Amino acid sequence: MAGEPQADCLFCKIVAGEVPATIIRETETTVAFRDINPQAPTHVLVIPRVHYANAATLAIAEPGITADVLREAGEVAAQDKAESYRVVFNTGSGAGQTVFHAHAHVLAGRGLEWPPG
Ligand code: AMP
Ligand code: ZN
Repeated sequence: MAGEPQADCLFCKIVAGEVPATIIRETETTVAFRDINPQAPTHVLVIPRVHYANAATLAIAEPGITADVLREAGEVAAQDKAESYRVVFNTGSGAGQTVFHAHAHVLAGRGLEWPPG
């Protein structure tokens, strides 16, 4: 069922505590942990506890939780004392999405080029 944990999903396993992660913040609806392959001094993933394949499907089903993810992205940046930061939602394999559980990348702590690659 939509939103239910998926047995083959890495991020559902992190939410369940079955796979270790460096968790830096948790709320009732979200978990934030450091990316295992950081692309910036701050590279944190903020995920909803519920499983949706990407940010848009999450937003359709759970607009409130989508807002929680964005609020937590800001809290992560504040916690890492980043005045400027970038939030990225890779959507689809052509855009580099490799884990099909919605997640926000929060990137900060270095120069962030615009336009991004
Ligand atoms: P994406 O490529 O946008 O789907 O993002 C998935 C991200 O998850 C990548 O940046 C990976 O480095 C990261 N990642 C994969 N496995 C883990 C893990 N066990 N703990 C933390 N981050 C992970
Ligand atoms: Zn999942």
